[in-house]
Amino acid sequence: MTRMKYSARLQDTLHKASIVVLVTAPLLGIATAMIFAWQRIFFPRDLVLLLVIHTLACMGITVGYHRMLTHQGFSAPAWLRMIILICGAMAFEGTPTQWAATHIKHHAHSDEEGDPHSPLEGFWHAHIGWLFARTNFPEARTYAPHLLQDPVVLFVSRTTPFWMALSLFVPFVLGGWTGFVWAGLVRVFCTTHITWSVNSVCHTFGSREFETTDASRNHWLVGLLAYGEGWHNNHHAFPRNAFHGMRWWQVDCSGLFIRFCEKIGLMTEVQRVTPEAAEAQRVRALRTRGTIEILRMQLQYSAESAQAEIERIFQTSIATVDDRTLHTRMMEYLQRLSEIRRSVSSPMFLKRPRLEGYAAQIQTLLEQARAMARQTGAA
Ligand SMILES: [Zn+2]
Ligand SMILES: [Zn+2]
Repeated sequence: MTRMKYSARLQDTLHKASIVVLVTAPLLGIATAMIFAWQRIFFPRDLVLLLVIHTLACMGITVGYHRMLTHQGFSAPAWLRMIILICGAMAFEGTPTQWAATHIKHHAHSDEEGDPHSPLEGFWHAHIGWLFARTNFPEARTYAPHLLQDPVVLFVSRTTPFWMALSLFVPFVLGGWTGFVWAGLVRVFCTTHITWSVNSVCHTFGSREFETTDASRNHWLVGLLAYGEGWHNNHHAFPRNAFHGMRWWQVDCSGLFIRFCEKIGLMTEVQRVTPEAAEAQRVRALRTRGTIEILRMQLQYSAESAQAEIERIFQTSIATVDDRTLHTRMMEYLQRLSEIRRSVSSPMFLKRPRLEGYAAQIQTLLEQARAMARQTGAA
């Protein structure tokens, strides 16, 4: 048991250390690039390398990890899937299985308890903070077991560190130390922060075209920089849609790439949304949101009444019995009810199953308190 605890603590420390390196090394790269530039050591070749590797890695994430793997927005032959996922592995955002599992969890609990990176817990938590807790990275076995059967995905997942190292080594070979700094470190900064902005900026700033049951938003700048991923409200409304930009002016480079591949026959079963389906989704989500608000109000009321009744039982029990277990239990019930009330009144968006779970818990707590009071003769 102690050994298990020790091993878990060691893994936590190693995980935190790796994130510290991931966050600080690119920053040091930017500082070094600035010093180089100050001394007029600058080669346009390095910027070209940066742009090319960043585009490959970023598209690997958006087209490969996200639209293909996580949401199954299209089908592609094994060799093409392999290339796209290898590009994604160069983004320094983890293995395809881990990325997909975390993102599936994000969609399952968007902006409620269980979301690995909701800005309702703080903007910086959504941007970077969440990365430090190993518990925010769910097991692929739980959230993406189907991916563990896919030999292409498994191959890229097992070799991810190699592709990461290669994406630093290639600019070094082609551009020396300045190539390494610009197209290696500065590029990792650009790729990771642009992806992280989808989690932070696109759940905080921007417009909402669809009334989804989360805080997702469309942000034009992230849309441009993240090759289409910034049309995030559209994406939450239609997760399987391979095209996140749904209007002509919503630039979506990943969508354009998918459309091109579909045209030349490389991608099939490309998922789309018809205008009718879009309208139906808008109406359905509005209705769901209304029902949930009513459920929240009802829960608040029943938690308050349950709290009042348990407090009454508690007062009577103090006067009639001197049973420490009874008192401890009653305090636990009251504490749990306070937690439920806090959760229900928090700005976090809570989905229907969780609210129904709370309703059942309130009822159980109340029944247990009544039964206990009857047993001890306090009621
Ligand atoms: Zn999201
Ligand atoms: Zn998604």
